Amino acid sequence: MLHLKTAEEIELLRASNRLVSRTLAEMAKLIEPGVTTLELDRIAEIFIRDNGALPGFKGYNSFPNTLCTSVNDEVVHGIPSKYVLKEGDIISIDCGVILDKYYGDSAFTFAVGEIPEERQRLIDYTRASLEKGVKEAVAGNRVGDVSFAVQAEAESGGYSVVRELVGHGLGKKLHEAPEVPNYGRRGKGVKLDEGLVICIEPMINMGTRRVRQMKDGWTIRTEDGRPSAHFEYAVAVMRGEADVLTTYEYIEEVLNKK
Ligand code: MG
Ligand code: MG
Repeated sequence: MLHLKTAEEIELLRASNRLVSRTLAEMAKLIEPGVTTLELDRIAEIFIRDNGALPGFKGYNSFPNTLCTSVNDEVVHGIPSKYVLKEGDIISIDCGVILDKYYGDSAFTFAVGEIPEERQRLIDYTRASLEKGVKEAVAGNRVGDVSFAVQAEAESGGYSVVRELVGHGLGKKLHEAPEVPNYGRRGKGVKLDEGLVICIEPMINMGTRRVRQMKDGWTIRTEDGRPSAHFEYAVAVMRGEADVLTTYEYIEEVLNKK
């Protein structure tokens, strides 16, 4: 069963996802060599609560923290820790909130200080693959059109697409139907109707697509230890053009001043 959202619900989801966007911008201010991922998490939680919302991930299936912080070969679901960020790292920050009963869920991969060109290229391609996917999230298309566009862009850069984790519907639940894989075939899968809200979240690896889960029960790493990047937007499917509920504008403002 797909839950199509009313215009009113889409505005509530926009507010939730804008708060996530602003939280990620707060993280952009703090990310530099010497900061621990636990410190980022602590400040994100305060920011979210100060804005009248609840952390969306904390306690979800017993996840312990507000953010997922995934560094270098960690793909997603990294648990904030005493790990100290160092020059050249890349870190995906995935953040969820619940505001007025609706979830926000978005992610961005940041560079820590100066990073090698090959890591920046991975980040750029991953973000571009998200943007290509968004262009296909229009009424009348199918999930496979989004999936195919993401995969094609990532693979055109020589990268591989993680299969085991996928995007999803978003609403009063963090994970609603349908699943939105980052690989697939045009014209296949669930039909996209106006009002469907989905998270598109490519997880793109520099080396092998294969991943493994750590003993903490959460952290997903690449099997070969090479880096992975992750970006995530929540978008409302519309006729003609998707309505992107997340924005990276607040992050860009911070990064441009750095
Ligand atoms: Mg997420
Ligand atoms: Mg998600």
